[in-house]
Amino acid sequence: MKNPFHIMIIPTLGCPSKCKYCWSSDEGSPVMTIDTVREIVSWLKEFRKDRVTFTFHGGEPLLAGADFYRQALPLLSIELAELTPEFAMQTNLWRMTPEIAAVLAHHKVPLGSSIDGPEEICDSQRGEGYFKKCMNGYEIAKAAGLSVRFICTFTNKSVKHREEIFNFFKEKGFVLKLHPALPSLRSENPKEWALEPAEYGDLLVYLLDKSLENLGTMEVMNINDLCRCIFTRRGSVCTFVNCMGNTFAIGPDGSIYPCYRFVGLPEWVMGNVRYKPTMDQLMQSEPGRRMTAFSEYVDTACKDCSHIRYCRGGCPYNAIAPSGGLLEGVDPHCSAYKRIFDVLNERLNREMFEEPGMGFGAAVSKKPKKPGVMALMRSVVGR
Ligand code: SF4
Ligand code: SF4
Repeated sequence: MKNPFHIMIIPTLGCPSKCKYCWSSDEGSPVMTIDTVREIVSWLKEFRKDRVTFTFHGGEPLLAGADFYRQALPLLSIELAELTPEFAMQTNLWRMTPEIAAVLAHHKVPLGSSIDGPEEICDSQRGEGYFKKCMNGYEIAKAAGLSVRFICTFTNKSVKHREEIFNFFKEKGFVLKLHPALPSLRSENPKEWALEPAEYGDLLVYLLDKSLENLGTMEVMNINDLCRCIFTRRGSVCTFVNCMGNTFAIGPDGSIYPCYRFVGLPEWVMGNVRYKPTMDQLMQSEPGRRMTAFSEYVDTACKDCSHIRYCRGGCPYNAIAPSGGLLEGVDPHCSAYKRIFDVLNERLNREMFEEPGMGFGAAVSKKPKKPGVMALMRSVVGR
């Protein structure tokens, strides 16, 4: 996220799809009204002056309909022009119509969607018919000139088909962004689909190797982001920065949460846009204090880790939400992060040592035949 301030707007938690591992939809959820959007505008006019990105997220944000966006987008962009708003949307595309696509294209809203690989694999975890409906919406979005990227959720089941999934993205010419399935807070069997940290670590190393094999022809966004972390020595995506106070999510009724992942969980409401809370009031709320405590906890818990600077303990939601807000550890994906960060650092050091002209005498060998991490980093950072 290139802007320092990120507001996620969740127009509804409703969703027409029934993805088996999903924990962020709620059938009876109301839809945000334009009055609530006006309240968001009026709150933000006073709240903070930084450049902002608004991401419409869900549930399924297209359920709000064309009229909602026809009114909401100009309200946010004109009334908050001082914050130079940029927009994005995360949608399954099922309800994309030429009418909504035209509104979104007018405001240059890039779309993120979700597809979990070839139709059979995708539908086995997202439900029958998902793939076709998503691809149909994709064609409509593409015809309107919208840019669409896909997130691929890897579950403990689909990870066994990682090669097929990678090849699917490659053949389609899609950039791959992976998302590990998380344990659901709303399920009786929370780990049924969740990707275990060890599997996640293996998958990241596999995708690093595939990225190198396909350098210049196929991109894996997560691998690029991890390379950027190592190169700049600071986090470049929300998981690896201190998101507290820089990211907020607003639910359908105007409730403010630390991030979209908490929306709909009453114990994580920090305030409501209607009452125009200040930053101080939000951070002093119970959820605000829990989030701050996480950051302080990381300072101690991760103090001996060489990756702390660009990892920051990972995602606080992953760490504290499953235990009801208790601080029992850092992000459970820690071992996966350590694994990939270690691999990237080791390979980078080895390649630097082997690079001609580095002055390591006998240790200098021929250039690696295949592109290495250094080549990938150059291509990512050079953009
Ligand atoms: S809680 Fe996690 S997903 Fe949400 S903004 Fe923070 S790091 Fe990102
Ligand atoms: S890799 Fe693990 S120990 Fe290191 S900073 Fe990240 S969460 Fe903390």
